[in-house]
Amino acid sequence: MDTQDYIRITEKNVLHTYNRLPVVFKRGEGVHLYDTDGKEYLDFAAGIAVFGLGYGNKEYNEALKDQVDQLIHTSNLFYNVPLAEASEKLIKASGMDKVFFTNSGTEAIEGSIKAARKYAWLRDHSTDHEIIAMRNSFHGRSLGALSVTGNAGYQDPFKPLIGGIRFADFNDLESVRSQVTDKTCAIIMETVQGEGGIYPAEPEFLKGVRELCDERDILLILDEIQCGMGRTGYLFAWQKYGVTPDIMACAKALGCGVPVGAFVLNKKTAEHSLVPGDHGSTYGGNPLACRAVSTVFDLFEKNHITEHVRRTAPYLEKKLDELTEKSEKITARRGAGFMQGLVLADSVKVGEIVAEAMKKGLVVISASGNVLRLVPPLIITESDIDQMYSILAEILL
Ligand SMILES: *Cc1c(COP(=O)(O)O)cnc(C)c1O
Repeated sequence: MDTQDYIRITEKNVLHTYNRLPVVFKRGEGVHLYDTDGKEYLDFAAGIAVFGLGYGNKEYNEALKDQVDQLIHTSNLFYNVPLAEASEKLIKASGMDKVFFTNSGTEAIEGSIKAARKYAWLRDHSTDHEIIAMRNSFHGRSLGALSVTGNAGYQDPFKPLIGGIRFADFNDLESVRSQVTDKTCAIIMETVQGEGGIYPAEPEFLKGVRELCDERDILLILDEIQCGMGRTGYLFAWQKYGVTPDIMACAKALGCGVPVGAFVLNKKTAEHSLVPGDHGSTYGGNPLACRAVSTVFDLFEKNHITEHVRRTAPYLEKKLDELTEKSEKITARRGAGFMQGLVLADSVKVGEIVAEAMKKGLVVISASGNVLRLVPPLIITESDIDQMYSILAEILL
C-alpha cells in the first residue's frame, strides 16, 4: 500500500470530522516526523501540544515497553503500581491534594464540573448552580465540556447543552463580576486560551478572579490541558501568576502521547466533593497511562524541561517578532513560552499557510481568529527555531 491508499482507505472508513492534510506520518525522531514517502518534517505542532519530550525518547519508550510486558490494565477495583507513582509526582508538582485520572482532556473537564457542582450541592443542596465560563474558550467536545466552550459554531448544533452556564469576556474582570449570582459555584477558564487564538490571561485578571472566588466561595477551575506541563516554561501556567486553582484539568502533554488526562483538586475541594459512587472510569488511572505520566515527570526533571523552555522561549519570541515586523501578512504575535500565535492579516488564509508550510517540511497548525499556532515539542533548540524561521520567512515575507 502507498500513501494514496492509506488516505483513500481512511476516508472510506473514518467518519469525516476532520479535514486532514494529505500526509501520512509513519515515524518520529526528536523534533522530526517522517511520512510514508520518507520525507522529513520539522514539527512545531507536537500532535497539538502533546509530545513535549519529542519523538522516540529512549527512556520513555523503554518504560512503556516494560509496562506493556508487566501489566496494561486492571480497573479501579484494585490498586496498581504506576497509579501510586504517577499520583505522587503530580500531587507533589502541583502542590494540590488529590487527583482523578481520566483518558482525555474533555473527561478531565467533565470531572472538574462534577466536582464543583457536588461541592456546591453539599453546601446548600440546591440543584440549580451556575458556572461562569469564558467567551472564545475551548474545553473539549463532550457535552459538559462543550457547554462551557464559548464558541457558538461548536455548540449550536448540539443544543440543549447542560444548563446553568453563563459566559463572560476573558481578561475582563468586570464582565466576570457581572455574571456572578448567588448560584455561582465555579468559574472555569484556560490560563492561556489555546484554540481561541493564544491569549494568555493578564495577571491582574487572574488575580482578580481568584479574589472574587475567595470572597464568594466560588471554585476556580483552571484548564491547563494545553498550556500546562511545561509549555509556558512552568510546569503549570498558573505557577507564574502566583494564583492557585481549586481544581485543575490536565491532559495533552501529561502522558506525552499516551492518552491520559487528570483533574486535580485542592484540599478544600477534595474533602467536600466526590465520594465513592459519584464518579468513575474503567480505564482512568490505568497502569500503562500512569506509567507514561510517571515517566514524563521523571524525564521533565532529569532533562530540565521547564528551565529549557524558559531559557529558549525569548529566542523564539525574538524570531517571531522579527517575522511579524518584516511581514505584511502578520499583524501581531501573542503567547507564552512555547505556546505562540502569529495573527495573520485578513487577506491571508491560515489554512493555506499551514498547507504551504507542510509542503516545505514544517508542521504548524492553526487556531481561531486566523492565527498560526506554534506549539513545538519542548525540546526544540535555537537551530530548530532558525530552521522554522527560514521556512516561514519563505512563505510570509
Ligand atoms: C485539547 C483541549 C481540551 C480537550 O482535550 P481532549 O483530550 O481533546 O478531549 C480541553 N481544553 C483545552 C484547553 C484543550 O486545549
